[in-house]
Amino acid sequence: MPQYQNILVAIDFSEYGMEVALKAKQLAEQFNAPLNVLHVLDNIPIPDTPYGTVIPLDTVDLTNELLEIEKKKFKQICDQLNIDPDRRWLIWGEPQHEITQTASQEKIDLIIVGSHGHHGLAILVGSTAKGVLYHANCDVLAIHLRD
Ligand code: AMP
Repeated sequence: MPQYQNILVAIDFSEYGMEVALKAKQLAEQFNAPLNVLHVLDNIPIPDTPYGTVIPLDTVDLTNELLEIEKKKFKQICDQLNIDPDRRWLIWGEPQHEITQTASQEKIDLIIVGSHGHHGLAILVGSTAKGVLYHANCDVLAIHLRD
C-alpha cells in the first residue's frame, strides 16, 4: 500500500459522518499523515425569485441561522478530532465538485468518503462517493457504511 502523505476526509452531517471521520483519523495516524476535513454547504436554501438576486430578508435570517448551525457542527467534529485549523475546509458548493477541487488544490493523495450519506441507502454506493471516485486525481477510499 502507498505511504499516503496528505489525506482528506469529506464529511456530511448524516448519522454516518462521525464514523467516516473517526476511521479517517485512525488511517491518518497509521500513515503519520496530516488529516484535512472538508464539509460542503449544499443544503442552505437560497430561493430563485422572479427578481433575480433579490433575496427576501427573512430568507437571509434563516440562511444565516442555518449557516451558524452548520459552522458549529463542523467545529465540534474538527475539535473532537483535533484537526489543525489550517486543515479545516467549510465550503459552499456542490459536494462532488468541491471535494475533488480541494483535493487537487491541496495536493491530497487520498480522499476518504463514506459509501453513502444523507442521500439514502437506496443505492449501494452514493452519488457523491461515485462522483468523487470518477473525478478525483488521486486514490479514493470509500468507508463501507451499514444501514
Ligand atoms: P452520498 O453519496 O451523498 O450518499 O454521500 C457519500 C459520502 O460523500 C458521504 O459519506 C460523505 O463522505 C461525502 N459527502 C456527501 N455529501 C457531502 C457534503 N455535503 N460535504 C462533504 N462530504 C459529503
